[in-house]
Amino acid sequence: LPPRFEASVYSVWVEFIQLSLDHKPLNLGQGFPDYESAPAHVAKGLADACTGENKLLNQYTRGFGHPRLVQAIGKLYSGLINRSLNPNSEVLVTVGAYEALFCAINGVLHPGDEVIIIEPFFDCYAPMTSAAGGVPVYIPLRDTKPNATGAKSSDDFKLDPQELESKFSSKTKLIILNTPHNPLGKVFDRSELELIANLCKKYNVICISDEVYEWQVYKPKEHIRICTLPDMFERTITIGSAGKTFSMTGWKLGWAYGPAALMRNLQIVHQNCIYTSNTPTQEAVARSFETEINKMTSAGSQQECYFYSISDELRPKREILAEALTKAGMIPVIPDGGYFMLADWTQLKPLLKLDSESDKYQDFKFAKWMTKNVKLQGIPPSAFYSDENKNLGENLIRYCFFKKDETLREASKILQNWT
Ligand code: PMP
Ligand code: GLN
Repeated sequence: LPPRFEASVYSVWVEFIQLSLDHKPLNLGQGFPDYESAPAHVAKGLADACTGENKLLNQYTRGFGHPRLVQAIGKLYSGLINRSLNPNSEVLVTVGAYEALFCAINGVLHPGDEVIIIEPFFDCYAPMTSAAGGVPVYIPLRDTKPNATGAKSSDDFKLDPQELESKFSSKTKLIILNTPHNPLGKVFDRSELELIANLCKKYNVICISDEVYEWQVYKPKEHIRICTLPDMFERTITIGSAGKTFSMTGWKLGWAYGPAALMRNLQIVHQNCIYTSNTPTQEAVARSFETEINKMTSAGSQQECYFYSISDELRPKREILAEALTKAGMIPVIPDGGYFMLADWTQLKPLLKLDSESDKYQDFKFAKWMTKNVKLQGIPPSAFYSDENKNLGENLIRYCFFKKDETLREASKILQNWT
């Protein structure tokens, strides 16, 4: 293995997806819905694209994005960020948000450049940085209410402004922001984004803003796009995902948008790696966007727009899971966005026989033991921390609540009855 991949050998997804295949637990691990949540027109759009009259929709399309899709993405975000995006030079369509992250990181980094990564972090940011020759520099979100009793909020976790600035230097090229956040569910507010934006400007740093959960936000919180802050558009690459937007995670279609000068770098990585992503899915996502943008912008039909109804659909599921975890003796961290919930499981310690698991970190022992013995799977959050900070995730477990209510009730039953 070339040394640039040596730090990236382990993947929590590879291990835990195999574990769930082997032990068949109720799976609240990897994040995906276990039912069809999206409006019917989304899947129908794909069937129609493949079987309709225009047979060219089953052939290659434009490399940087299918024309109808970049138009739709350009139209949607031009409205949301209040500036006119050029669909050809300021939008790139990718194979999932993963590829958008890969193109962004590889497109801008030079060997030795530093990348500030906020912990916990979606785990691919670090290996992508190292493989691109960059150096990850970590800054944890700190629990500002460590002694509070009862349920916690994702909003309790904050960046310390001095600590954050201490990570910036002339070597810093990038900061990776993720809002709404996976796994915490934190939605960064305006003042938190301003802190990051001001440091980006002061130290001439580019921001990659991973906003794949932009539509899963629980009121009164609101999603704010950092590229809309003063003078930030020119230094921000924003990333989205159709898998998350339309709850079709298997479609693996994503995008990045930003200023043409930065997007050129991403286009070059993409053209030499993927060249073009699959046409029918792009056509279907374009049609879905057109339908939903119409609802979004027509008076009276906004509530029918999936971009808004998805959070109303998810909120009661968040409550079911929070209640189940509390009843089971865990302390949930109630998320303001996304569809994951962290919970402190350490009060259950006397009931567990974790010595049977040989892992180094307690949350890995807990997650595996629960999968095998209690038949309920979550993801161990220390996977979302650097080696130096893994202890910050060890008391926690992450569960996905984008599941049928009956699945969540079944999880609740498992949690009440296993002792
Ligand atoms: N970023 C975050 C924060 C995620 O949770 C995920 C997981 N889907 C991705 C990026 C990758 O998205 P995709 O499935 O579209 O590649
Ligand atoms: N984003 C999803 C999660 O966090 C999926 C992860 C993945 O596909 N690697 O569960």
